[in-house]
Amino acid sequence: MIALDECLSPHVATAQRNHTRLDWREPYRTLERVRPVSWTCKCLATVYELCEGGGQAFIRKTIQSDGGHQIHESPRWSLNEARAIWADLLSGRAR
Ligand SMILES: [Zn+2]
Repeated sequence: MIALDECLSPHVATAQRNHTRLDWREPYRTLERVRPVSWTCKCLATVYELCEGGGQAFIRKTIQSDGGHQIHESPRWSLNEARAIWADLLSGRAR
């Protein structure tokens, strides 16, 4: 059990009933350098990261488990679009 005051990163809100369903895909290799710029708290099994690279951005979803992490990625978006969707994800309007 992790104390709440150890949580420095945001937690995603419960998905709203009519939330946008993001198109999660198998990750694929990209040539450009990708770096996470925001991420959700790792105290929950599912961790989301907003990643930017090559003038585009996407969200990486990692389901942490003892048997190995399962990773999916969203489609690529423009930086502005990705930041808007990231805000929707955190607030439960997208998942
Ligand atoms: Zn936490």
